[in-house]
Amino acid sequence: MTSDLAAADGPPSTVEAYQAAILSAITPLAPVSLELGDAEGCVLAEDVTAAVALPSFDNSSMDGYAVRAADVARAAEGSPATLRVTGEIAAGDIGAYRLAPGTAIKIMTGARLPAGADAVVPVEWTNGGNADVAIYRPAEHGNAVRYVGGDAAKGETLLTAGTRMRPMQIAVAASAGRRAVSVRPRPRVVALSTGDELTEPGTPLVPGRIWDSNSYMIAAAAREAGAVAHRRSVVPDDPEGVLPALEEQLAHADLLITTGGVSMGGEHDVVKAALRKLGTVTFRKVAMQPGMPQGFGVIGEGGAGGKGQVPIFTLPGNPVSAYVSFQMFVRPALAALQGANDLALPAVRATLAGPARSPSGRRSYLRGVLDGGTVTPLSGQGSHQIAYLGRANALIIVPESQTHLPAGETVDVLILP
Ligand code: AMP
Ligand code: MG
Repeated sequence: MTSDLAAADGPPSTVEAYQAAILSAITPLAPVSLELGDAEGCVLAEDVTAAVALPSFDNSSMDGYAVRAADVARAAEGSPATLRVTGEIAAGDIGAYRLAPGTAIKIMTGARLPAGADAVVPVEWTNGGNADVAIYRPAEHGNAVRYVGGDAAKGETLLTAGTRMRPMQIAVAASAGRRAVSVRPRPRVVALSTGDELTEPGTPLVPGRIWDSNSYMIAAAAREAGAVAHRRSVVPDDPEGVLPALEEQLAHADLLITTGGVSMGGEHDVVKAALRKLGTVTFRKVAMQPGMPQGFGVIGEGGAGGKGQVPIFTLPGNPVSAYVSFQMFVRPALAALQGANDLALPAVRATLAGPARSPSGRRSYLRGVLDGGTVTPLSGQGSHQIAYLGRANALIIVPESQTHLPAGETVDVLILP
């Protein structure tokens, strides 16, 4: 573990220092070769180059007639150029065709341009003839021709390692001649909620209890960040039960996330109590709001950093704190596991539509609604206010040095996925 994480009793860490400490402890998952049909959403672990030039042969971009531009140079509405049609080339036809001067060959979109032709006259500029064709407009050299290499040269790098295989990239890999690609698999994530007050949603509530929202939220957020994620049923506040519940997940997980049980000193902070004993998970304060108490480390058998050790995040229990902590710390870790370059939350500058407050010395991530260049802080900024979180589409950043920002101020805003 790095010194940054080890300094648990020191002053609060900055967000950046804590992020850096986490990333230094994360190793990307080993690449696997996946067929294109299975690679969607995974991140490339290799560059993909074009096996051939794209296109690999000169071809027509329209249905029409392959001609020599010189033969139709004087064609006009009132005095068409009339050419004998000597054949027809369909897409996929691999015959060797040659165009004789003063003639035309009917050609379809995607069909190879015959030798001797240097332009295609779209069928719309003609009478559509089969034996002879009347052409009413001149076509310039290269008209409606897609030249070899016009999209990419042979050997050109089309996709780089770190790129996520979305539908467009899958098409690129297929067009480059690839049947399979080397990718990092989607990280397997398990989300666990801890707390004696938690009740499964959909079951009756008794006073003093709440429905568990965190495990569903965190699993969904992990999926949104490229993971295969599921939740485990609620873990009670039983110091003897927490570790076994976590260990049970080790075989199925590349990353574990708990929520709750890590506050600043309560007797019921069972996650903290159970994991602190292991010595491989560090708890510390981060100078932010929400989300000040954070824990990160590894659990599982194996030498330091070795196989069998699974990174674990212990996020605070308040749902808004857990959500913001996920986006600030877990999301970059999931990117690192995937070797991905696309998971940073998009940041924009916007004008505050109302005043914003923040505790001194801590960076606030206020929930807000971004609309064009204006961002409105929501009135409910409590860490338990999940209903307000559900109305937000952005996080407004109030820097550590500020305690109050008036309306009209320009602020940094993170756009929520
Ligand atoms: P803790 O971090 O366990 O002290 O919890 C802090 C606050 O978050 C308490 O009000 C908890 O009831 C609440 N909380 C903890 N876990 C969850 C959860 N899974 N879903 C909703 N609220 C939670
Ligand atoms: Mg709790």
